[in-house]
Amino acid sequence: MSLQIDEESLRKIVRSVVEKLASEGAQAPSCGCSAGAGASASGEHGIFNDVDAAVAAAKQAYQKLVKLGIQGRNDVIKIVKDMTIARAEEWGKFEYEESKIGRLDHKIEKLKIVELVPGTDWIRPDAFSGDDGIMLEEYTPYGVIGAITPLTHSIPTIAGNVVSMVAAGNAIVFNPHPGGAKSAVLAISEFNKAIEKKLNISNLLCCIEKPTLDTFAALTKNPDIAMLCITGGPGVVAAAMKSGKKSICAGPGNPPVIVDETVDANKAAKDIIKGCAYDNNLLCVGEKEVFVVEKAYDKFIFAMKVNGGYEISGAALEKLTQAAFEKKGEHYVLKRDLVGKDPEVLAKAAGVIIPRGTQLLFAQTDANHPFVVEEQMMPMLPIVKCKDFEEALECAVKAEHGYKHSAIIHSLNVSRMTDMARALSTTVFIKNGPCVAGLGLGGEGYLSYSIATATGEGITSPKTFTRKRRCVMVGNLSII
Ligand code: NAD
Repeated sequence: MSLQIDEESLRKIVRSVVEKLASEGAQAPSCGCSAGAGASASGEHGIFNDVDAAVAAAKQAYQKLVKLGIQGRNDVIKIVKDMTIARAEEWGKFEYEESKIGRLDHKIEKLKIVELVPGTDWIRPDAFSGDDGIMLEEYTPYGVIGAITPLTHSIPTIAGNVVSMVAAGNAIVFNPHPGGAKSAVLAISEFNKAIEKKLNISNLLCCIEKPTLDTFAALTKNPDIAMLCITGGPGVVAAAMKSGKKSICAGPGNPPVIVDETVDANKAAKDIIKGCAYDNNLLCVGEKEVFVVEKAYDKFIFAMKVNGGYEISGAALEKLTQAAFEKKGEHYVLKRDLVGKDPEVLAKAAGVIIPRGTQLLFAQTDANHPFVVEEQMMPMLPIVKCKDFEEALECAVKAEHGYKHSAIIHSLNVSRMTDMARALSTTVFIKNGPCVAGLGLGGEGYLSYSIATATGEGITSPKTFTRKRRCVMVGNLSII
């Protein structure tokens, strides 16, 4: 059977395909640098293989968003928050199955709390009025932001970034962690479908379907990427800083905790277990090592045991250390195999059997143990006995490595709190609560999943993703 198409019909088909591609923003790369991913961009609901095509599409979407004003941004935020909350169970499970790390209940909770991320009402202009006229400073969008997200919280970081960045008026191209890319594609394509339906904007949120180091490099080189936002470890933070683009870097941490004799050891142990066990210690703000003063030590160790901690020592600690780290010369390097795994998996690696409901393992170690020094991201807490507060503080400073991320103290002594705040100079400093209190969960404040430590913007908010611009009108304009 032969298929006959007359010339006019053929023209119609070609025209409709071209129009469809144009409406979805799938353009030819705007610069010579290719993503290296090879495939051409599909642009289907924001999912691209080609970085430059994704950026071109996001740029078109940004221009459309500008025309919709603040209401358009609010509509996008509502879509993203409502959908993330409504689909928290489904998406939490999907991400848990893809990444194979963390705890399902906490994966779901991290999605439900996206409600706490602030929106457009955080971008109020600053105004001056005086004898010489009026001045308005406004917080305006950058344009298209390139965002890098971690394996530890793929969809939560994406949803939180979208709220903050779109509140500021931007479009985004995500280069997610390869291990969380399917989750990223799922959430971003669903967000886009709803945005397309409500606002008739395609590709406001773009995602690289198969992210690699090459696609990251292409993103940093694209002239239409106005800013990068990095949420990840030291490697990607260093790479972004070298790129020459303005970068907001939410980098690694290794949060130390000090416990002194002035507090209720039982309450301190409960808080520490709550924070450290959260999502199997994947949180960057999570308690990673504890320095306890001698006077509080025995009570604290007892309290750890009765509140869900299981102590390991000797050969078991040695076995777990071998399983978790690889020795390279004088240093230990974290292997990924046990990162974010359940306490039962760690116990198996240590050769011990733990009671049901154990929240984490802990061990008494010295201050140079790899579990203290490395950001281990697993439910295994090293506890170091210190002569006094001064020694604990010295150890805490060393363990934090100058990341300036997070630190925690359990003490009623205000001058010790001040000493620790000054010595560590961290972005987040929590007194007498679990680490999550620093993110607005059980403590005051707002939430963001990207804490800009390395570049100093702090817990990111819509304003972080704006350019400040001044408007001045000269003359005697004051009404008073
Ligand atoms: P990771 O550094 O392995 O990966 C993060 C992202 O960077 C991924 O998308 C990855 O593909 C990419 N990447 C890694 N090395 C790169 C390089 N050299 N060049 C370009 N891209 C590169 O981190 P992870 O395991 O996904 O996440 C855990 C880390 O992220 C921890 O260090 C944690 O403290 C940190 N983190 C920080 C925050 C924060 O708000 N400060 C939040 C979450 C996680």
